[in-house]
Amino acid sequence: TTAVVLASRPSGAPVPGNLRLEVRKVPAVQEGQALLRTIYLSLDPYMRGRMNAGRSYAKPVGIGEVMEGGTVCEVLESASPLVTPGDIVLAHCGWQTHAVEDARLLRRIDPGKAPISTALGVLGMPAFAAYVGLTEIGRPRPGETLVVAAAAGPVGSMVGQIARLHGARTVGIAGGPRKVTWLKELGFDVAIDHRSPGFADDLSAAVPHGIDIYFENVGGAVWDAVFDHLNDFARVPVCGLISQYNQTNPPAGPDRLPLLMNAINTKRLLVRGFTQRDFVATHYERFQSDVSGWLAGGSLKYREDFVDGIENAAEAFFGLLQGKNFGKLIVRVSDD
Ligand code: NDP
Repeated sequence: TTAVVLASRPSGAPVPGNLRLEVRKVPAVQEGQALLRTIYLSLDPYMRGRMNAGRSYAKPVGIGEVMEGGTVCEVLESASPLVTPGDIVLAHCGWQTHAVEDARLLRRIDPGKAPISTALGVLGMPAFAAYVGLTEIGRPRPGETLVVAAAAGPVGSMVGQIARLHGARTVGIAGGPRKVTWLKELGFDVAIDHRSPGFADDLSAAVPHGIDIYFENVGGAVWDAVFDHLNDFARVPVCGLISQYNQTNPPAGPDRLPLLMNAINTKRLLVRGFTQRDFVATHYERFQSDVSGWLAGGSLKYREDFVDGIENAAEAFFGLLQGKNFGKLIVRVSDD
């Protein structure tokens, strides 16, 4: 297999030297296992956290180990009754062209239902995070105002569209004019560029009745602009904080934590962190059926950004942290 392994831990933004391409021998298939060929590899912001030594909600990738990641694969060989050669499966093989996996960890994908790459995006992990964070914590009601950033990505685009299906007014934030135009095509009521110098004023103008749900994907300057506009009883599902993933030191400036705690108290805010994994056992089937229905009915749009070849995965991943991707970022590792 050709694999991308973690060569060293980044300090701040990752650099090419932190990752290394390596050719390795694939182990023989044992009872209960299957040999897989990777077709698509998902690149996701959480992978930056796995490059750090400290424990988050998942254990870090070790030095010299293959980078972690979700994949869509073809079964080449099977020593399990659960899968047969030729099956297309959702797996977690990481950044490599081939792998041997426990067949119980594979989820079969029906290629007749949707393009198989969607198992990593609109029918997969990021959309599921949007779905559970919004419906279980955000709980949009008709007429409420929702704000979300990284809104052109797989999480944010789903948050906006699902909130709209619940009757909310939606404000999407993204970087640059191309993404802002796409947000309007997605049906966001207002689309704002967080890189524009007038960003804070644009946001004020977009939320004349305040914000009832702020779906937190980014933190940093966007959160600063949002904070004053939160209404009483606003909900803040904390899904991710991508603006901070490369930070090594606490941000400069006065300590604003007392201000935040005071707002949580007086405005009776609900601020709740979550990871989609906590909800898989209870909500995954319902998510699959709801999203499949919305897709079939034409009420959901999605966008994928493909990069060819495992050797280009690292550069694409670095770009993701800077907003260079436009849609769900996927590496086409081999032909489907
Ligand atoms: P995206 O494909 O949207 O990529 C990340 C985007 O973040 C970039 O394209 C960029 O878009 C934006 N961004 C980067 N830096 C900044 C910044 N400083 N300020 C504002 N925006 C920035 O990613 P996903 O949709 O996959 O993920 C979105 C968030 O959801 C991430 O925080 C991720 O960690 C989190 N997540 C959490 C999960 C959970 O279970 N809790 C599961 C999946 C994802 P732009 O050009 O618009 O700035």
